[in-house]
Amino acid sequence: MAINAENRNNLQLKDARMTLYSLKASLKKQQHKGKGKEKANPESDIPPTVPTFQAFGCEDSTENIDISQLKKEARAKNRKLVFSGTDYGVCTMSATVPLTLDQYHAHVQLYNRFQVLGDRELQPMDTVVDPAFQVPTPHRITAKQLDVLSLAHKNARLRERRKAKHPQLLDAERQLKERSFKLAATSAEVEQCQKIARETRDILRGFYHSPRAHRDAWSQELATKRAYRQVAAKERAAIRHASGSRRSLVIMMIGTQGTGVGSRIKGHARRGGKKLRKEHSQHAVVGMTNEFRSSQTCMGCFGLVIRPKRKAVGASSKIRSVHGSSLCMNIDCPLYRTGRATQNRDTQAATCIALAGASFLLDGMTLHPFSKNSAMNHMLKKIITTPHTGNTESRLRI
Ligand SMILES: [Zn+2]
Repeated sequence: MAINAENRNNLQLKDARMTLYSLKASLKKQQHKGKGKEKANPESDIPPTVPTFQAFGCEDSTENIDISQLKKEARAKNRKLVFSGTDYGVCTMSATVPLTLDQYHAHVQLYNRFQVLGDRELQPMDTVVDPAFQVPTPHRITAKQLDVLSLAHKNARLRERRKAKHPQLLDAERQLKERSFKLAATSAEVEQCQKIARETRDILRGFYHSPRAHRDAWSQELATKRAYRQVAAKERAAIRHASGSRRSLVIMMIGTQGTGVGSRIKGHARRGGKKLRKEHSQHAVVGMTNEFRSSQTCMGCFGLVIRPKRKAVGASSKIRSVHGSSLCMNIDCPLYRTGRATQNRDTQAATCIALAGASFLLDGMTLHPFSKNSAMNHMLKKIITTPHTGNTESRLRI
């Protein structure tokens, strides 16, 4: 009888978990549905964001920002405009690349040569490259830097040291780890888990909610706010420094794809998100830019880049791709010619984001390689899907 009752309980537990899972899944589905509908709505009714000298800081999608007024005022007051591109990631939280107007024009010149007049037989490719074209030096922010500045690193170290002096606490945590609710398969095991949780509750509360712990948490919160402010200010200063004037007006292009939040990669603090962006939007124009093809396009020739391959260590037959870098195989590319065909992936992507955003704001049209709907992209897809012929072969060999 006792066995039957236990079996019934186990079945109930199984059913309850199943119901919870399906409820959560349907809730998630509903939320995604809502989001999709919002995106589908036309945004033509939204008035454009017009940054001016008086109201400079703002944040909007790049397509909805109008900088014509700002350009006029900057010219009148002899102030420079400087663009930047930011690519958020997990390993490097943020990589920002400055792009001055001269550099932008040098890139556009290269774009015209390679994409519009890109036939080797018609156009001599050995013409001199504009000296303004250069591989930018990125300004990087990592989660580790923020950990140190926000006292999270220090507090965690001190907490571990204090914990080592409490054998009771260590024992309680070990018990909870071994008897986790997630691992419980039967109702008897669930009850045992509950019992352990009740017994260890006071010990854990005594440590994690002590006055010392609250004090540390409060100081850490204040330090975190300060750290984000400092880091963002340094980033903007680096962009201004690249433009050669401390009075330059910064227009930041930030990629919309992911900020590292919710990443499941182990060992990386998940510190991305809106915080940095919000800090910037108080002192700069922030344009959220579509990252379409930004990590797959070369900043020199606007062709496709590939991930270099390497032999896996220890296994002679396996070939792996090197994820952190991008390689341009176009023999006419100025980067290839000067021995800089391999670039950092984040730098490459950030530069392309800056170019995509700046081209829209300055010329009213995103450069074709970064535009989702352009005719050029359809053509590019055609070339990739059909066998390579002639001079395109060297450019698209993958
Ligand atoms: Zn290239």
